[in-house]
Amino acid sequence: MLANPALVELLNRAVEKPVSRAEALQLMAKCATDSLVATAGKIRDRTRPDVVTYSRKVFINLVNLCRDTCTYCTYKKEPGDSLLSMMGPQQVLAIAEAGKKLRCTEALFVTGERPEQKYERARSWLSTLGHSSTIEYIQEMSELVLSKTGLLPHTNAGSMTKKEMAMLQDTNVSLGVMLETSSERLMGKGMPHEDAPSKNPKVRIKTLESAGELRMPMTTGILVGIGETPDELVDSLFVIRQLHEKYGHIQEVIIQNFAPKPDTGMAQAPPASSEYFLRAVAMARIIMPEMNVQVPPNLNPDIFGRYIDAGINDWGGISPVTIDHVNPEFPWPSIASVQKTTEGRGRRLRARLPVYPEFLKGGFITSDRLKQYASLITDDFGLVREGYIND
Ligand code: SF4
Repeated sequence: MLANPALVELLNRAVEKPVSRAEALQLMAKCATDSLVATAGKIRDRTRPDVVTYSRKVFINLVNLCRDTCTYCTYKKEPGDSLLSMMGPQQVLAIAEAGKKLRCTEALFVTGERPEQKYERARSWLSTLGHSSTIEYIQEMSELVLSKTGLLPHTNAGSMTKKEMAMLQDTNVSLGVMLETSSERLMGKGMPHEDAPSKNPKVRIKTLESAGELRMPMTTGILVGIGETPDELVDSLFVIRQLHEKYGHIQEVIIQNFAPKPDTGMAQAPPASSEYFLRAVAMARIIMPEMNVQVPPNLNPDIFGRYIDAGINDWGGISPVTIDHVNPEFPWPSIASVQKTTEGRGRRLRARLPVYPEFLKGGFITSDRLKQYASLITDDFGLVREGYIND
């Protein structure tokens, strides 16, 4: 793929203003990877220079039963599995307190999709805890963690209704739901989302729209290499951009690469190639010049520094306490090594809250209590005070 004059002109334009869908499709199809990466890096240097952020977190694996089945997933467990997680309040609090001791600021609550709709075991567990839905229990646990430790909750429980998200608005500074892909084709027979109705792009988009109506800061993103075409990848990024243009509430966009795992339906599928993934990261920055773009460092342990070159400005949550329960095969690198890599690329690593500074300060957080908890640990820029972690 040699750069022709028209592509060079398009790349130069992209540094200054957002590309159209047609232009993005052209770049994805025809532009050399080095040129895409260089352009994405220039855009990030213009819009988000100097600092790369991360969130110091604990991962609370509240319940890993799930009503859906995605053929790449190892997070979901069945009753009887030795790694089944159904956490009671004391377990939740113990993790949050351990995080507090190591100056974590985020309590990430993760669950499968509506386990109570499929499993009697989940219904009876919730009933014992005094609840009829997972969201109700998350609401109670968010309150517990917030009030006892001051860690700020961020929940990723799959698709949610507007009413459910409103239930979490007083305790969660942000929510997460991956779009993964806007392609309904991937729900077809033999495709990864055939048995995952919650992964229907319409359902995920509805969740993101409802969050926008509530003005809840949202984390979303795409999963790269699960069978989408390059055009579908570009379309997924445009769906996210358009949601943000309409509601202004997408606080970060995660670009995550598919890696096949043993004992899953996609165990024999090829991983996203490192070049295709690098192109996806660069395209995310080119399509969304002003937004926060994140790549988790643990999924690409030896080469994650290159994603700084390709335009990212965030590493996502990193935990000094808990493992990544969604990708337990990929331990997080130490924060010291992430710092070294970041500084090696001429940037400073700074800790942020699970709500980005511009959303914290931009009127998205309406709860006085949440604002107060955040103010105890942030500086004038809305990042975690530099002294806080080492105090
Ligand atoms: S919805 Fe989430 S937890 Fe459930 S199977 Fe799919 S990826 Fe796994």
